[in-house]
Amino acid sequence: MTGAAIPILMYHEVSPRPHLAFRRYTVTARDFARQMRLLAALGYRAIDMDTFVQARAGRAGLPKRPVVITFDDGFQGSADHAVPVLRAHGFTAVFYLVAGLMGKTSRWMVSDPGVELPLMTWDTARELIAEGFQCGAHSVTHRRLAGLPAGECHAELADGRKRLEDELGRPVAHLAYPFGSYDRAVEDLAAKAGYATACSTRSGLSGPDDDVLALHRVTVYGHDSLSDFVSRLRTGAAVRERLGRAVAGFARPFRRRGGSPP
Ligand SMILES: [Zn+2]
Repeated sequence: MTGAAIPILMYHEVSPRPHLAFRRYTVTARDFARQMRLLAALGYRAIDMDTFVQARAGRAGLPKRPVVITFDDGFQGSADHAVPVLRAHGFTAVFYLVAGLMGKTSRWMVSDPGVELPLMTWDTARELIAEGFQCGAHSVTHRRLAGLPAGECHAELADGRKRLEDELGRPVAHLAYPFGSYDRAVEDLAAKAGYATACSTRSGLSGPDDDVLALHRVTVYGHDSLSDFVSRLRTGAAVRERLGRAVAGFARPFRRRGGSPP
């Protein structure tokens, strides 16, 4: 593993009218456009996970300021409202898709946060790939993988990958764990299922020694200001979170924030 720390941004839904129940993980179309404009102005260049993993292995170079832009769940809103902005800036991005629910809704969100959102169709995913975007796996049914019986976990990982490859007509080597749920056994099964990388929802920049099967990401929240966004991009955390950590630093220097994004 070589290179500097890279921000892997984690988005979920992008919408002009966020659903109140999912506001925390929905970035408005306007905020998203501002964030991408800022990335471009600061000289960032978006890379996909193939380039990321090749660079980490010392087999590829990186732009001066690399960023990975990821979207979990495959929401139709992200295809409708984020893709045109990405396209305008020439930014690629990675969409992690729930293979068993394509063209349906986010059923796993019915009980919490209590809203179902439309998920993109296979046709949309194929169009994204044709345009140079990348699709990765996000399981078959979006279950929590840690603690699942090994056979069921293997099916979520291996079948999710196979269905994506069959439908998209190209190799799929990248994974994001649903709910950020994984443990050592899940990582082993992900490696056996053929994934080269897997994203967690652990917060932070991805440093040279980051575990490629449990990569840190930088969550972009719906309530983030543009200065929060810049702070996250550079340090992995918003300003107020860094201050909070400094205050709590003596007692619990490595305390993590709770909660798991979808
Ligand atoms: Zn998810």
